[in-house]
Amino acid sequence: MPHQVNKTLIDSHCHLDFSVFENDRLNILNTCREQNISAIVVPGVCGKDWQRILSLCEQQKMLYPALGLHPCFTDEHHQDDLQILAQLCDSEPLTAIGEIGLDFFITKDPADKKIQAYYFSEQLQIASQYQLPVLIHARKSHAEVIRHLKTHSRSLPSVSSIRGIIHAYSGSYEEAKEYLKLGFKLGFGGAFSYPDAIKRRSLVTRLPIEAWVLETDAPDMSPWEHHGQRNSPQYLQEIAQVFIQLFHSEAKNGQIIEQLYQNTLDILPSLG
Ligand SMILES: [Zn+2]
Repeated sequence: MPHQVNKTLIDSHCHLDFSVFENDRLNILNTCREQNISAIVVPGVCGKDWQRILSLCEQQKMLYPALGLHPCFTDEHHQDDLQILAQLCDSEPLTAIGEIGLDFFITKDPADKKIQAYYFSEQLQIASQYQLPVLIHARKSHAEVIRHLKTHSRSLPSVSSIRGIIHAYSGSYEEAKEYLKLGFKLGFGGAFSYPDAIKRRSLVTRLPIEAWVLETDAPDMSPWEHHGQRNSPQYLQEIAQVFIQLFHSEAKNGQIIEQLYQNTLDILPSLG
């Protein structure tokens, strides 16, 4: 592994509440602290997980909760979850609503797409009502996600327009530009570390550095060197190194990392 940059990092997307971390979660957090990781955002995927995330984040101060209903689990979502989510926005120190979005990779079923769109739209509404950023999961659905975001921002006064992160960004350059115009940032994670991810990797330098935030999406999306293994926030430093290598610029490595840190705070101010 290339030597670490001695600057603070944030993992903007990590499912550290999942049971695969049950046995070594505290060790992982200790290693993360040693590696200058100051904050890890833990997004929710189903209503039944929310209390677990909230209590974990209360015990571990470097963990920050986001709650949401993930588009891949529509079978598990209930209408009541939306009301509960709104109540939790009121009573809990949430960093964001997430992860929410549209996934048209796993489903081709029009009925499921409709349910996904319903929960996505309702959660965007809650996010704007409580002035919270959103963590968006979008696969094979960028045009639709952009359409939803534009519709929502048109219906709102500009001060309450929705901002957030398109996590594990997989869209095109043109779609990226649309997201940036809407005030969104793009999640840079393990998928960019694969040498054959040529199109994805070429995006990094075509966009301004302000576009990007770091994430692991652990336990999924392991970086290349850990291919086939459980991903972990401990690999965030390695993901940062990949970004530095791809982002050819005059800026020093430390400045690049500082900018990524600042980008994350710009969108998730409660981490500061
Ligand atoms: Zn995720």
